[in-house]
Amino acid sequence: MNTVTGQHLRGMITAISAAISEARDELNRLDSALGDGDHGTSLSVAFADAVEKIAALEQPTPAQVLQTTAQSLMNRMGGASGALYGTMILRAGGATKDKVALTHEDMKVLWRRALDGVMQRGKSQPGDKTMVDALYPGVQAFAEGRTLAESFEGAAIAASEGAAQTATMVAKHGRAKFAGERAVGHVDAGARSIAVMFAAMNDYWREVEHGEA
Ligand code: ADP
Ligand code: MG
Repeated sequence: MNTVTGQHLRGMITAISAAISEARDELNRLDSALGDGDHGTSLSVAFADAVEKIAALEQPTPAQVLQTTAQSLMNRMGGASGALYGTMILRAGGATKDKVALTHEDMKVLWRRALDGVMQRGKSQPGDKTMVDALYPGVQAFAEGRTLAESFEGAAIAASEGAAQTATMVAKHGRAKFAGERAVGHVDAGARSIAVMFAAMNDYWREVEHGEA
């Protein structure tokens, strides 16, 4: 498969929603070590809302699926992180213009825009112990793949490694900043949720490649 359609993106968001819901308690636990413990719950509520909204779209374009999802994240997640996850998906949608099918190159641009949006909005860099520490290496690896399948797989591996690396870091943003050195030893919840999302996208894309989705 060498293009990604609105139908595929709907499948991906649905797969992400299921994976986030399965990881909900783990994400809450990570967030309670350094934050307020709501990350898994608020993400899973927002993605469940997105799945309901995108299911109602008829033959959606990539932009429609992503805009609708971004809206749910911004409206249902709330707080600083709702704006960040919403911005990520909104920028991704903006990068698709009115295309009905996205090439591998289009997908690389989409991820670059999504990453830039989060870093601008959050004023965050790799090493700050945030979602950017999974997103940045994920997007980098995506750009290096020779095929969509290679890109999704590379991104999933890199995002997971990036999330694990946050355990060595002190946080520069959000509630975790107040933990100071105490943050060392804990994985950042947002980095972990990004890794869960990339893993779900890769699993979904493997099903597409095998004609199962
Ligand atoms: P809240 O902090 O409002 O409770 P969540 O618990 O849903 O939000 O999300 C917290 C996550 O948001 C953090 O683990 C971190 O990855 C991410 N985050 C917080 N601030 C920033 C920022 N400025 N830039 C990037 N990511 C951030
Ligand atoms: Mg929180």
